[in-house]
Amino acid sequence: MATTTAPLEPMAESPQALREVTHWIDGRKVSGTSGRTANVYNPATGKVQATVPLANQAELNTAVESSLRAFPAWAAQPPLRRARVMFRFRELFEAHLDEIAALITSEHGKVLSDAKGEATRGLEVVEFATGIPQLLKGEFSESVGTGIDSWSMRQPLGVVAGITPFNFPAMVPMWMFPVAIACGNAFLLKPSERDPSASILIAELLKEAGLPDGIFNVIHGDKLAVDGILEHPSIKAVSFVGSTPIAEYVYQRGTQHGKRVQALGGAKNHMIVMPDADMDQAADALVGAAYGSAGERCMAISVAVAVGNHTADILATKVEERIANLIVAPGTDPRSEMGPLVTGIHLDKVRSYIAAGSAEGAELRVDGRAAALPEGAGFFLGPSLFDHVKPDMSIYREEIFGPVLGVVRARDFDTALALVNDHEYGNGAAIFTRDGDTARAFANGVQAGMVGINVPIPVPMAFHSFGGWKRSLFGDHAMHGPEGVRFYTRIKTVTSRWPTGIRAGVDTTMPTLG
Ligand code: NAD
Repeated sequence: MATTTAPLEPMAESPQALREVTHWIDGRKVSGTSGRTANVYNPATGKVQATVPLANQAELNTAVESSLRAFPAWAAQPPLRRARVMFRFRELFEAHLDEIAALITSEHGKVLSDAKGEATRGLEVVEFATGIPQLLKGEFSESVGTGIDSWSMRQPLGVVAGITPFNFPAMVPMWMFPVAIACGNAFLLKPSERDPSASILIAELLKEAGLPDGIFNVIHGDKLAVDGILEHPSIKAVSFVGSTPIAEYVYQRGTQHGKRVQALGGAKNHMIVMPDADMDQAADALVGAAYGSAGERCMAISVAVAVGNHTADILATKVEERIANLIVAPGTDPRSEMGPLVTGIHLDKVRSYIAAGSAEGAELRVDGRAAALPEGAGFFLGPSLFDHVKPDMSIYREEIFGPVLGVVRARDFDTALALVNDHEYGNGAAIFTRDGDTARAFANGVQAGMVGINVPIPVPMAFHSFGGWKRSLFGDHAMHGPEGVRFYTRIKTVTSRWPTGIRAGVDTTMPTLG
């Protein structure tokens, strides 16, 4: 059998230390049997630290069969009992927060405090899901006809799957499974093969919390596993988060196979800076939103739209001053503000965008390739800043997903808003201004799913829903919050007549109240 290895850095951290990540099926760790594996890197050292199995169809089938066995009894549990499992999981997850954050940092590369932040945001969805008895309450109408009442209820779908990206190995799965499971479904997770370990710790904690075996399974894999999920007749719904080309593919192929699909894709989040904004506040916000997590956030700001040349000059200067103080170091270093990129391949891709931006005529004010970086083979890159970016440049049109911020200069607010709205992505968008009229016009008119007013990264809380517009989301439902409950349940409406003794006689016409 072929072994899949990433082309960069074949050296292991040390041959003895190479860990094997396992699948999690039916309440236990299961080694891969397909013979196909991928390398898991430590981005701070650039070395391979583990291998992850890539599932084949037989392994996927085993996982789905385990979920099918477990589903009926779990769905039949009173929602309050399912909520209690979530309460216990919440406590266990919090107790293991340091361990989870350490795993995330070691495989993703992000700074430890950021990893803890991601895990905490995920935990908030668990807290939301503990309210499931309330969230599943239907509606009741008394006397829709004489002696007839009607009510609706929400019931789980069955086996549902989640396919998740590398950039939030704990939080994005947690956008999905707490709600799915609390609603009474069995959940199959296919995490990113680049940082797969957090999902297995989560599985262990769910088991310890009392979740029945088979209700949460994890299989690792690549396109083969994803295609298997999209075509498996017993999987009723698929939640996906990742890049737009794959999101679109997952949506099309999944819906072709009769599944309910929500597929969240890429982003190019703009932040408009008006001349009346507090420029220090705007520059602080921009630096955090553009370079935090090395720009590998779907809600990162990658475009600053400065209204007026004067605004652009001040803003770019202030951002440049702040960049000079950013500490790029391994995520485990307590001083670090920005860790490495996730893989060598991704590092090369981001570097190539910096070259393309210069070649296309943007002004490269800060070149991250020339930054003083930690020694060794880690996938580090310093923050980059472009000014005079134009809408036809690739660094404007495409998602770079790295620490690269571009400043676009706009004449006025209307031009700035039109720019945001013309972009193919519509995940998040922000405005910095002191003017209420402008802020309101922005919130009303912007074509994006998540909007910030003097808030650079407007990630909705767990009890609201997360999702973009345009080519940032394929499907009809955003994730978690009320939309999550709708996605993971079907509505059933019951019309009931008591007492049964009322005889209306045979009537073949459409029943009306009359
Ligand atoms: P990706 O699209 O490469 O991978 C996502 C998932 O799809 C992974 O599980 C991967 O194994 C699988 N996959 C990859 N290639 C595939 C293929 N050809 N066929 C089938 N499945 C495939 O994304 P990534 O690089 O892991 O994550 C970064 C991307 O995710 C960025 O574009 C980012 O904007 C996006 N993202 C979006 C959101 C959002 O909420 N909209 C949140 C986080 C990340």
